[in-house]
Amino acid sequence: MGVAIRADLATVPDYNIPGTAPDAVLLNSNEGPLPPPPAVVEAITRAAVEGHRYPQWFSDTLVGRLAAELAVPGERIAVGCGSVSLCRDLVQAFCGPGDEVLCAWRSFDAYPVFAQVAGVRARTVPLDAGHRHDLEAMLAAVTPATRVVFVCNPNNPTGTAVRGRELRAFLDRLPDRILVVLDEAYREFVDDPDVPDGIELARDRPNVAVLRTFSKAYGLAGVRIGYCVAAPAVVSAVHKVSVPFAVSRLAQAAALAALDRPEEVRSRAAAIVRERGRLQALLTRHGHPVTPSQANFVWLPLGEEAAGFADFCARHGVLVRPFPGDGVRVTVGLPEENDAFLSAADHYRAGTDPARV
Ligand SMILES: *Cc1c(COP(=O)(O)O)cnc(C)c1O
Repeated sequence: MGVAIRADLATVPDYNIPGTAPDAVLLNSNEGPLPPPPAVVEAITRAAVEGHRYPQWFSDTLVGRLAAELAVPGERIAVGCGSVSLCRDLVQAFCGPGDEVLCAWRSFDAYPVFAQVAGVRARTVPLDAGHRHDLEAMLAAVTPATRVVFVCNPNNPTGTAVRGRELRAFLDRLPDRILVVLDEAYREFVDDPDVPDGIELARDRPNVAVLRTFSKAYGLAGVRIGYCVAAPAVVSAVHKVSVPFAVSRLAQAAALAALDRPEEVRSRAAAIVRERGRLQALLTRHGHPVTPSQANFVWLPLGEEAAGFADFCARHGVLVRPFPGDGVRVTVGLPEENDAFLSAADHYRAGTDPARV
């Protein structure tokens, strides 16, 4: 007789681990295309000298720094090993048996997985015809068991964003016993002024938690660090369930050093936003379907063609992320990387093989 594994884990989907290949153009994980600035690498190296010592349990120095940057009291900030770990901590802290998590679909695939792992039901509400959160339908899907609602803004993988007026109306009508997690992993790439800043929304709403990360615009995906801004009671709950010392000394040092270089982060994000505009315009002009994006990726709603399209791109050296049956998410990279993708996409449409022309 083997060891008894929780039976319900059999139905938890395996993570779709993004592919990688030595010379491929990697547009499948929404990473920043450039390595961290040298000063950030140096800060990581300096922190490694004290690698025999545990890090600060609650990342106090970084919390103090973020508090000053965001004009938010430190007791309203929790730091995590990537914001994805904070998603999990929030589900863990707010939900128990019989409770429900509500999220849009498609949205970030970790939300329903975390619910299921916590033994909690995930109720999903389809995006609207424009691939956007359908906040009306989400309100209608709230039940007495709902504890946590995820709103991914901009949404991964479709890149669409909800606007301030609709989001405020949604928050006003939702029972305030429900925690709303505004996942703003892509906030730095938003250029539509009507998309609200979650941290402002959270200031006077104790049931709103905002997630931000250093993985995307800050280019530190491999370092693993993100944070949550929420009411002090929510932060304390996250602290209770989080894994001790999950945020390494190296990650804390890297985040602090990155915060010292706001210009670098802004100019890198601005370059991605410019490239996003160029890529969207060219895709549209070349006859590809593309959804307007506020993030560092674009969404091609290719439906049943998604998997074949992604395979075709991979065969031609460009890795993109298929969501079979729905669409393909393509990270905006450096200009030459985006050109390589566009060329593969054009060959796919034309039915020609770029390896042979
Ligand atoms: C990338 C991403 C995150 C953050 O990931 P971490 O690397 O864990 O900080 C969180 N939410 C969404 C929707 C993302 O796409």
